[in-house]
Amino acid sequence: MSEMPDPIKNPEIQFTKIFINNEYVDSVSGKTFPVYNPATEEKVADVQEGDKADVDKAVAAARAAFKLGSPWRTMDASQRGRLMQKLADLIERDRVYLASLEVVDNGKPFADAYDADLGEVINVIRYYAGWCDKICGKTIPADGPMFCYTRHEPVGVCGQIIPWNYPLSMFTWKIGPALACGNTIVMKPAEQTPLSALYMGKLFMEAGFPPGVVNVVPGYGPTAGAAIAEHMDVDKVAFTGSTEIGRIVQQAAGKSNLKRVTLELGGKSPVIVFADSDIDFAVANCHHALFWNMGQNCCAGSRTFVEEAIYDEFVKRSIERAKNRKVGDGFQSGVEQGPQVNQEQFEKILGLIESGKQEGAKLGCGGKRTGEKGYFVEPTVFYDVKDEMKIAQEEIFGPVQSIIKFKSIDEAIDRANNTTYGLAAGVFTKDIDKALTIANSVQAGSVWVNCYDPGLIQAPFGGFKMSGNGRELGEYALHEYTEVKTVSQLSIIRNL
Ligand code: NAD
Repeated sequence: MSEMPDPIKNPEIQFTKIFINNEYVDSVSGKTFPVYNPATEEKVADVQEGDKADVDKAVAAARAAFKLGSPWRTMDASQRGRLMQKLADLIERDRVYLASLEVVDNGKPFADAYDADLGEVINVIRYYAGWCDKICGKTIPADGPMFCYTRHEPVGVCGQIIPWNYPLSMFTWKIGPALACGNTIVMKPAEQTPLSALYMGKLFMEAGFPPGVVNVVPGYGPTAGAAIAEHMDVDKVAFTGSTEIGRIVQQAAGKSNLKRVTLELGGKSPVIVFADSDIDFAVANCHHALFWNMGQNCCAGSRTFVEEAIYDEFVKRSIERAKNRKVGDGFQSGVEQGPQVNQEQFEKILGLIESGKQEGAKLGCGGKRTGEKGYFVEPTVFYDVKDEMKIAQEEIFGPVQSIIKFKSIDEAIDRANNTTYGLAAGVFTKDIDKALTIANSVQAGSVWVNCYDPGLIQAPFGGFKMSGNGRELGEYALHEYTEVKTVSQLSIIRNL
């Protein structure tokens, strides 16, 4: 962990305009939208509201930046890497400010924003900076007197639509591989959390990125987001958010120009705890798997399956741990859990908690709001949860743990897979045969053994089934941002 500096409790909001072609501009409509601090419910800024006309301008800028012969297209790949390293240096310089902005915008505890979010942001940019001049095709021993090779070319103008749970992390998961491969970008941050993304505009300019390479258009989903998804001159759209909107984005791509689509969607990820595991370790990890980031995590371990023999003890210790979780304003030191991102999420979570009570799950602790102001929810533990209950089926995206009893490994696998999602899974056991049986049997893009979400940026992340298409992070993400071109030349060189 890095040494923890003090936060900036009232960070000045410096950028509220749309960022196009290395300039901050007003929206074409002149409209703005408010951004609130979820801990105080107070407005912190009015941000220019991008819509279709602004997306059109941003796409035109990104298209011009992508033109053959442009500074970006003719830049050495190694120089792209240096620009990205410079960008990472600048983020490091402004790390305290950016982490503080995340607290105001999203509500997360400063220590998490500084250490986990900003740490990941910097590492992701540096990781992809290193890839820039290592993305290469193959020479292929094709039949005949042919010289045959592949080029991994950038896809083109990439629309990127991101959520509010990790505002700057999601931003860099998206721009990292896209820039490494030489694409240009129109980014739409979530309407709840646009501030850190807008600040990045300044850093792109300072690092020396040519105009139009990255454009940031804040705005709402059905307007600005939809304009990107259905745009005829956007070559690819990458989306992270709900499965419901992922479907709409994919349809819009299909109905417009068949742009490439990658989707990182929701989950209802199982964690399977066997009786032979170290119970304190498993309780601590299952707690973290669910409660991290106020439960607003696409891969949250939201179904905790516990083997019968240790079930009662596990439930007891999980309730104790949740009761000790420190909830409060993200700027207070020692706080583990801030508010939910907004009123809509807060109400959705309280509604799902009510459904859990009504459907007969046992409430171990929590179950209601805490405080009078701000969208704070008590850390909540349900046990004796049944698979068919709403809290075991739907993505809650809140601090609500559901503990479920199981008897055999086969039963655990069947029930873990009995969902339309397939993002992640965890298993806790000291028996390697059990661990690998689970790892090979669960339908999930990531399986974590005796840990949960270790945050390995070098490894791919993405979903099976309705949790999405494609992979982010690691080398795999580069495949999502390149087109493979095969060049075959009739060669005068004969085999000698
Ligand atoms: P969402 O899917 O509505 O929003 C995600 C992004 O998509 C935002 O930038 C939004 O403006 C944009 N968007 C919305 N409608 C769009 C449209 N028609 N076309 C193009 N873009 C559009 O998510 P939400 O409403 O913020 O949250 C709802 C639920 O989604 C949450 O409760 C949670 O279950 C889930 N969620 C998942 C993730 C994740 O990381 N997988 C992140 C956030 C939310």
